[in-house]
Amino acid sequence: MKFLTARFYGILTLLWLSVMLVLTLTPAQDMPDTPAWKLLSFDTAAHAGVFAVLAGLGWLWARQQPGLRGRAAGVVLLGCIAFGALIEVLQYSMHLGRHAEWSDLLSDTIGAVLGLALLLALRRQLPPAPLAAAALLLALPLHAQPTTPDLAHARRTIEALASAEMHGRGYVQQGEHRAATYLRERLKQLGLQPLAPNYTQPFTLDVNTFPGKMELAANNVMGPHGGGALQPGSDFIAAPNSAGGKVLYTHLLPLDTLVFTNPDTAVAWVRRPLHHQALLLTSRDQARWSQLPPALRQQLDLFAQVVLVPKLTASLASSQANNPRFEVLASRWPQGKKLVHWQLDAQLLHSYPTQNLAAVVRGSVQPDSFLVVSAHYDHLGMMGSKTYFPGANDNASGVALLLELAAHYAQPANRPAYSVAFLLFGAEEAGLVGSSYFVQHPLLPLPRIKFLLNLDLLGTGEEGATVVNGRVHEAAFRQLTALNDAQHYLPRLTARGPAANSDHFPFSEAGVPAFFMYTRGGSLAYHDVHDQPAALSLAGFAGAYGLARDFLNAQGARPAQ
Ligand SMILES: [Zn+2]
Repeated sequence: MKFLTARFYGILTLLWLSVMLVLTLTPAQDMPDTPAWKLLSFDTAAHAGVFAVLAGLGWLWARQQPGLRGRAAGVVLLGCIAFGALIEVLQYSMHLGRHAEWSDLLSDTIGAVLGLALLLALRRQLPPAPLAAAALLLALPLHAQPTTPDLAHARRTIEALASAEMHGRGYVQQGEHRAATYLRERLKQLGLQPLAPNYTQPFTLDVNTFPGKMELAANNVMGPHGGGALQPGSDFIAAPNSAGGKVLYTHLLPLDTLVFTNPDTAVAWVRRPLHHQALLLTSRDQARWSQLPPALRQQLDLFAQVVLVPKLTASLASSQANNPRFEVLASRWPQGKKLVHWQLDAQLLHSYPTQNLAAVVRGSVQPDSFLVVSAHYDHLGMMGSKTYFPGANDNASGVALLLELAAHYAQPANRPAYSVAFLLFGAEEAGLVGSSYFVQHPLLPLPRIKFLLNLDLLGTGEEGATVVNGRVHEAAFRQLTALNDAQHYLPRLTARGPAANSDHFPFSEAGVPAFFMYTRGGSLAYHDVHDQPAALSLAGFAGAYGLARDFLNAQGARPAQ
């Protein structure tokens, strides 16, 4: 009977060991999202808990082994430590995206000690004092602060925001609402205080969308089935202000570039009949559009347009042109075709309701002074009913960094002296609509913002980062550079003058000191279908996190001692 029980515990121990191996060696992206517990880091608690069970089972087996009597606890403890070390080595060497850390081994050991102590105390082989000491030991690492963000966790945030379910976080199929719902949940899990009911500041915008049919084909055969079909997103896109429409076929009319230099040609073109033609031009022609005589410009604006471009870069517009306008990747355009077919659904949405999200960690010393971290969560949405813009770098990456910073300041041990607000703007891609609305309807007094740090495009970093307004706020930029030099966070920091290229701009215009930081190097995907999570190295993510945190701390977010 005793032999059977020993074997039973032995089998249980082995089963538990295999469960642990499977769990710890699963690639990071397959792991479920963990709840953000306020006091204990989930990772630490999980390590300790799992090893407590392992030690307990191991001890129940070992104490019945004739050779181990009296030494069972010690042998099991050593075995647990060795197994914990093995897991970390495997995690490191198998490149699973899991982070191998020696602090995990400490958690493992403490868990094993606690598990053994609990069992021994239950069997009255140990007085409660050592048990209390072990519990105290366990509590120590639970308060230890991570010095780097959890990159696997950040990558999961980026993957969630860039997933097909979010439809490109635009205005087709409620993409931006889905993203906002996901982000409210994240803010709630972190225990952040809302700056508006349900973290939400509603506003509306007008925006042109492409929610349905999206076909373009160039061929020499009349009718829609002549072949030469181009792929939406990868071969062509609709220009932001394109109207919808459908033609079975129409003639392509290459723009005569003499219209730019020869007045006679320009006059001849003004007199040209328009019907059944689509204008074929290049991005170079488009760049010097303003050089054309106004009468000709007016005339050409009435044509449908196919523009050949070296790179597809999508954008959003708040109005619609008279005709369909396509941009085609020049390298994918079939040369020598005379006819073109298209079918495009374009819908100009009026007063579409969307939102900013706003949360705060209240300061312990000066709660009415604010440091602000901002990032836009919206992107370009869909290009037809099947193609979406993932926007992993722009700006799932900045949102992920904002959430890691929020997780840091939400921990009681890091409670800032000044308040730190976290603003997630909508409709940035539609022309800084959300941040402009916030500045006009601020949820916190703008003069009380000591500094605003806007995060947009944080997914690379091989070549360091650029700081817009670095040349405006020179002292703050010197401080930033000093912090970067001290800790070697990013390979290089470059200062720029003012630029209206992200959500810091409306704040700058309103007199709020603001930096906009973006990483450089790596993936060149921008406003296209290739801006995918897999393309992002996150090379500068940990560095940008450390730098942003140190900078915010230096500006007043450092916890009061
Ligand atoms: Zn952006």
